[in-house]
Amino acid sequence: MSVRGEDMRAHAFIFLGAPGAGKGTQAREVAKHFSIPQISTGDILRDAVKRETPLGLTAKARMDAGELVPDAVVDGIVEERIGQPDCLDGFILDGFPRTISQAEFVDRILAAKGKGRPQVLDIEVDEELLLKRLTGRMTCPICGEIYNIYFNPPKVPGICDKDGGKLFHRADDNEATIRQRLEAYHQQTSPLIEYYRRQGVLMPVDGNKEPEAIAKGVLESLSKA
Ligand code: AMP
Repeated sequence: MSVRGEDMRAHAFIFLGAPGAGKGTQAREVAKHFSIPQISTGDILRDAVKRETPLGLTAKARMDAGELVPDAVVDGIVEERIGQPDCLDGFILDGFPRTISQAEFVDRILAAKGKGRPQVLDIEVDEELLLKRLTGRMTCPICGEIYNIYFNPPKVPGICDKDGGKLFHRADDNEATIRQRLEAYHQQTSPLIEYYRRQGVLMPVDGNKEPEAIAKGVLESLSKA
C-alpha cells in the first residue's frame, strides 16, 4: 500500500454484527491485509476460561448463559491489549465494543492517543443464516481457522485441513445460548449501528454471501474509504 494510503487508513477498525455474522473471519482478512493485530475479546475471554484465571472465573457464567460480560471487565482487557507494541500502527477490534458504554470507552482511548475516529464495518446477515452459521461452526484450536459443517466442511470431518488440529464446537454455540446471545445483540449491541452512523464512520457490508466474496467487498470498500 502507498504511503499516502497508510496515512489515510483509520487507526482502529471495528467489526460489528450479530453472533455468527462472520466478524472473526472477516477481521482476520483485514488484519492480514494491513498487517495489524486482530483483537477478539471473545477469544481472550475463552482463553481465560480455559486457563481458569481470575478473569476466566468471573466471565464464565455470563458466557455460558449467552450474556455479556460487564463493561469494566472487557474495557480493561482491551485497554491492556491495545497498549502493547504491536498495536502502535493500528488494530482491529472483533466483538468489541458491544454496548454504547464500550463504544464511548473506545472513543476516549482513541482521543487520548490523538487518533481519529474508528472505521466501523457492520456485517449484516439474515437471522436464519446466522443460526445455521452458529450451530454448524467448528474452529481449529491451533490456527483459529473457522469451518462450518453445512457450508464449508473440512476435508476430513473434525480435522483442520491446514494443520490436522482437532476441530471444536464452541460451548456457547448451542440453541438456548444462541437465542440469548442474539437477544443480547438486539438489546445492547444493535444501538451501536445508529451511534456510528451518526459519526459518519459506518460501512454496511452484505454478510449473506460466501466468506471470500464478503472479504472482497470489505477490502474494496476500505480502499475507497
Ligand atoms: P464472541 O466470541 O465475540 O461471540 O464472544 C463470546 C462471549 O464472550 C459473548 O457471548 C460474551 O459473553 C463475551 N464477550 C465477548 N466480547 C464481549 C464484549 N465486548 N462485551 C461483553 N461481553 C463480551
